[in-house]
Amino acid sequence: MAADALSPRLFGRQRMQLIETLQERGISDLAVLRAFDLIPRHLFVPEAVRHRAYEDAPLPIGFGQTASQPSLQALYMQVLSLQDQDKVLEVGTGSGFQTAVLAQLVAHVYSVERIPELSARARTLLDELRISNVALLVGDGTIGWSRYAPYDAILVAAGAPIVPDTLVEQLAPGGRLLIPVGDRQQQQLTLIRRTEQGTEREEVVGCTFVPLIGRFGWSS
Ligand code: SAM
Repeated sequence: MAADALSPRLFGRQRMQLIETLQERGISDLAVLRAFDLIPRHLFVPEAVRHRAYEDAPLPIGFGQTASQPSLQALYMQVLSLQDQDKVLEVGTGSGFQTAVLAQLVAHVYSVERIPELSARARTLLDELRISNVALLVGDGTIGWSRYAPYDAILVAAGAPIVPDTLVEQLAPGGRLLIPVGDRQQQQLTLIRRTEQGTEREEVVGCTFVPLIGRFGWSS
C-alpha cells in the first residue's frame, strides 16, 4: 500500500459522518466527539476492511478479535466521565484505536493485551501518531496492572463471566470500572463505582463482546 493511502488526513468526509452518527446515537460529550474526530480509525483496521473504517460497526482485526463498534466505545468514555488529569487502565488494547482516543482525553493510559502481535501493532501506530502518554503491556488484564494502580477509571473491552475483584481493588476512591458481564454470547455493560462505603453497581446497556480470557475471565 502506498504511504499516502495511510495518511491520517484521508477519509475526512466519512469521519465527519461517523461523528454525526455518534451524536444521533446519544453521544453528547464534546471532548469525546472531538477525540474521535482526531484519531484516524482507518489506520487501525486491516487493509481488507479499511473502506469500512468509519462505519459504526465492529470490524475484524485478526486473531479472531474485533475493533469494537465506535458508538459503544464512545459510550464507554461518556459514561466514565473522564477528566483530563485521569489515569486510566484499559483491558484489551486490540487494534489500539480506543487506546488512541482515550489518550486524547486523559493524562495517562495503561493498556493490557493478551495477544502480543496486536499489542505490537498498536505500539507501532501509536508511535507513528506521536501519542506518548500510553504504556502497553502484554499479559492477562484480568489481574489488572498493579504497578500503576490506583486508576481513576478502568475500561474492559471484552466480555467477562464476573467482575474481577482485582480490578475493583485497583480503582482509586471515586474510581469507575466499566465491564461487560454475562455469558459468552451476551453481556450487560456494567458500571462499578468505588465509594467510601464499598462499591455501587449499575447496568448500562446490553452488549456483545469477544470473551475476556484469563485467570479471572473465561478459560481459552
Ligand atoms: N478496544 C479495542 C479496539 O478498539 O480495537 C477492541 C478490543 S477487542 C473487542 C477485545 C480485546 O481484548 C482483544 O484484543 C482480546 O485479545 C483482548 N483480551 C481478551 N482477554 C484479555 C485479557 N485477559 N487481557 C488482556 N486482553 C484481553
